[in-house]
Amino acid sequence: EPDRPCGHTPRRLGVMGGTFDPVHHGHLVAASEVQARFHLDEVIFVPTGQPWQKTQRAVSAPEDRYLMTVVATASNPRFSVSRVDIDRQGATYTVDTLTDLRRQYPDDELFFITGADALAQILSWHRADELFDLAHFIGVTRPGFDLNDHHLPRGSVSLIEVPAMAISSTDCRARVAAGLPVWYLVPDGVVQYISKRRLYRSC
Ligand code: ATP
Ligand code: MG
Repeated sequence: EPDRPCGHTPRRLGVMGGTFDPVHHGHLVAASEVQARFHLDEVIFVPTGQPWQKTQRAVSAPEDRYLMTVVATASNPRFSVSRVDIDRQGATYTVDTLTDLRRQYPDDELFFITGADALAQILSWHRADELFDLAHFIGVTRPGFDLNDHHLPRGSVSLIEVPAMAISSTDCRARVAAGLPVWYLVPDGVVQYISKRRLYRSC
């Protein structure tokens, strides 16, 4: 084909955006399930820079969230982590994330993975109307949230059920602050990273 100079067949790339403060097994199961069900070549985890919805609380340093995501995904050959959002100045908007990835992988197909809670917010996102031209959206079930297509543009969203993991980063942070374990909620290397960097401690 004329626009694929090196005989490169388009790859199917998942994009898993998140604050990942910290990354947990809910994120990893969702990404793994979508990878398999949609035959994705790769899922790229993209930790946000300054998340615009989360200005009310202190978010951990981007580098810590990036490194935890690297630690959590390193053993999976189909998972990778991108710095596009943490290296861009200012608030992170998904439209910028997808525009940057589109530029980086012009011949590939992008699939943006989002939990039911985030999917419900999509139409309120910055420049929402452009999002659906940049990627196909995949909404996944999340315990406590209702998964539906919220009248998003026809054909732009797929909804799938993933194994239910009632885990949130908010709960993981609260557990660490209260001295409770996060073993088995987050990967072992992330437990150790949290402790090494003394993240989420109240004192
Ligand atoms: P926080 O409590 O800080 O908001 P979180 O657990 O919601 O953290 P995020 O980094 O906000 O994690 O989420 C990134 C993406 O992963 C979002 O699309 C979110 O819906 C999805 N997600 C998070 N946890 C789960 C889960 N347990 N099951 C399915 N999807 C999830
Ligand atoms: Mg969240």
